[in-house]
Amino acid sequence: MLKPNAHYAELKDSYLFYNIAQKTKAYCGAHPGTRLLRLGIGDVSLPLAPVVVKALHEAADDQARKETFHGYMPEPGAPFLREAIAAHYRSRGISLDAEEVFVSSGASDELGDILDLFERESAALVIEPAYPAYVDANVMAGRRIVRLASSEDDGFTPTPAADLDADLVYLCSPNNPTGAVFSREKLKAWVDWANERGAVILFDAAYEAFVADPVLPRSIFEIDGARTCAIEICSLSKTAGFTGTRLGYTVIPKTLERGGMNLRAMWVRNRTTKTNGVSYILQKAGAAVFTPEGQRQIRENLRVYQGNAKILTDTFDGLGIRYFGGKNAPYVWARCPGGMGSWEFFDLLLAQIQVVGTPGAGFGECGEGYFRFSMFGSPEDTREAADRMRRLLG
Ligand code: PLP
Repeated sequence: MLKPNAHYAELKDSYLFYNIAQKTKAYCGAHPGTRLLRLGIGDVSLPLAPVVVKALHEAADDQARKETFHGYMPEPGAPFLREAIAAHYRSRGISLDAEEVFVSSGASDELGDILDLFERESAALVIEPAYPAYVDANVMAGRRIVRLASSEDDGFTPTPAADLDADLVYLCSPNNPTGAVFSREKLKAWVDWANERGAVILFDAAYEAFVADPVLPRSIFEIDGARTCAIEICSLSKTAGFTGTRLGYTVIPKTLERGGMNLRAMWVRNRTTKTNGVSYILQKAGAAVFTPEGQRQIRENLRVYQGNAKILTDTFDGLGIRYFGGKNAPYVWARCPGGMGSWEFFDLLLAQIQVVGTPGAGFGECGEGYFRFSMFGSPEDTREAADRMRRLLG
């Protein structure tokens, strides 16, 4: 009889968002008419930029006419979009060939799919607190997980110990959930470690557009030596509001080889086998993001989210609450006041001021005692939530 992949039985149920939904539902049931202020969601709230919407309409019209109709797109991505993304990197001083860019349906897909390139016996290092998909995708593949707890002591951006034993390493910067950003020096330590060991870094840059400080790196390829040890996985979800539209990109340098095999060439083979490319309409929309006008328009939305972060960090500064992130990231990772546990603080905020956030304990054991606030809500709700927290905790 056919046996299923037994590793699925090893997956831990994700109680985090389920629990949040249950608790908020119960509260609203008991208090009809309550307006919750949701600072927990990781989804964006502002619409697509006008240039993107225009490109979507125009591309749909292209598909309506025989002369401009497009069928299957090249599996690694349309040349016009691969070139636009490579040019975008070059404008930031990173030399990249368009053939090193792969257009994807989003970072989540890629974070799981890319594991096809690596043997199952390899060990994956996850720095916790972490975005839950890293662990789950590797558990499904039957891979050994090595957990590295980060903390306030290392600013939630740890560096590798000399004897660290892992083959794949997830680095997420700016980080979800902690909002921490790895410095150049710390990324260099990871790159050197990976090159020495023959490991590969999977660099999740989903939040790179939030880095405002020019001293901080937005791409692993700003670091010397990364072209021989890193893959960068990026997304337009948070950068340009594509969470429901779906588009991302992955960069694999031509110089990245392991065991005599070229990973970029392997990924071409993988994509041409397992996908038939991303839709023409979406790729046109994606290309609009990388035009000068597109960049200007997405910045307007990003500024709104950055404004939300400022509202919250100013509030926490005033209350003397210790926090990380918020400056170059759309998340503020706050220490729960008075030594409260993550869920205790969640219950307090919900019951007393109807603010919903995300308990840090849901991102790994070392997240206990912390709380994640997201900046993707409306400025009105964020301001109101901040006022209520000031009254409750001040
Ligand atoms: N990586 C991180 C760290 C995320 O927080 C998210 C989404 O919240 C993703 C990847 C997924 O992005 P996408 O919408 O492109 O699948």
